[in-house]
Amino acid sequence: METLRIECLPGDTRALLAEVDRLGRKARRLGVEIPLARVVEWTTRAYTDAGGVTRSVSVDVVMVTAPAVIGLSGWHLAARLEHDPALPEALVSCGPGVSETTLNFADLRAAGPRCDHCGTRRRRAETYLVRHHDGRQILVGSTCLEDFFGIDPAPLIAAFDWWWAVHQVSQEIADLGPAGLRAGPRLPSRALVLAVAAEEYLSYGWTSSEAAYQSGRASSALLIRERLRKILDEGEHLRGLDPAVARLAEEAGDWLSALAASPETEGEGEYIAKLRVLGRVDAVPAAHVGLLGSAIPSWIRERRRRVAERLARTSQHVGEIKGRIEVRVVVVGVATVESHFGVSHLYTFATLGGGDYPEGAALKYFSSRRLLRAGSDALLEEGDETWIAATVKGHGEFRGTRETVITRGTAITGPTPPPAPKRPRAPRKGKGSVEAGATGA
Ligand SMILES: [Zn+2]
Repeated sequence: METLRIECLPGDTRALLAEVDRLGRKARRLGVEIPLARVVEWTTRAYTDAGGVTRSVSVDVVMVTAPAVIGLSGWHLAARLEHDPALPEALVSCGPGVSETTLNFADLRAAGPRCDHCGTRRRRAETYLVRHHDGRQILVGSTCLEDFFGIDPAPLIAAFDWWWAVHQVSQEIADLGPAGLRAGPRLPSRALVLAVAAEEYLSYGWTSSEAAYQSGRASSALLIRERLRKILDEGEHLRGLDPAVARLAEEAGDWLSALAASPETEGEGEYIAKLRVLGRVDAVPAAHVGLLGSAIPSWIRERRRRVAERLARTSQHVGEIKGRIEVRVVVVGVATVESHFGVSHLYTFATLGGGDYPEGAALKYFSSRRLLRAGSDALLEEGDETWIAATVKGHGEFRGTRETVITRGTAITGPTPPPAPKRPRAPRKGKGSVEAGATGA
């Protein structure tokens, strides 16, 4: 058994596994042991790109177990010398356990088409270095192999060829990998992938590969890869980076960095373990773009969890029932709720301190339509900070968190407190006020 350890860029791993599989089918026909390849580890490696910039990339560590070549009476084919009259020296292929470090290739090449078995030196296409377990070795011309082994050497040669193919495929892949990435492809930076993913998420939400398969839509990972390709290869620009996109990408990046710096926790699962590796990466191979991009929706879930945890500790009821409040808030959740009454949007705010109310109180607001940012036709999004003017509908508690339900003419008033204290208007009957979001529930 011979084991090769190969570090692959994830995009190349599939090609390696497919090639080993193909060689496995060949091995079955030859009746030799079947090679196995599996990804045993996932790690990061530094590599220096064509521009001399050293970055870290994620790599798959693949172990290929190739069976030892078959031998006879302790003898096996260790290397083959091909003697082409057009070339100044022989071409060397080697079998398992043989490499330039264990064999003097220069001597071999210089040996010429000599056969130590019959003691002649004449023009031969191929000679073999035949080795014994005890270290003896002998150069045998291809036409003398049958006499040397006492059997037809064709199966031995076929097995040798097969092993050499495994070795070469592995070598090619290894050359493609980070160690050999001399003029490698341009890999997007982690920050760029996160920015593109945040842009995608805020524009269209997130479609997992599974959901894409079910619905026939394109997955977010695919769209992000396509967008990155256009940015890197065609010089397309990110849309004038929206502050919400930049903030979300940066937060997710910070979360990943913190994850990478923290120790593994028991039972955290493979997904988080992989994100932890990506937290140490500066450059992202195409095969990991979707996974890294999914850090955006994952971070949002994590952020919601943290906010909910904090609000559960800090939240106090705000204002008087039916009283008017003006308060600075951050949007901590936007959810679409379907009921018998139709679709409504549930906004959760957390107070930020400002006005007459302390920080860390939870406010809840049901609206029949999506709210807009003050003075804008852009939607009010999670993470947006704004002042609001609202009427308190009730004080309640949900899963241990004190909540103030607001309604009736809640106004999004923007980055500064509302100018003058407004008189609360009497609620109009029927349609009319665009902000009147209460569904009557
Ligand atoms: Zn001979």
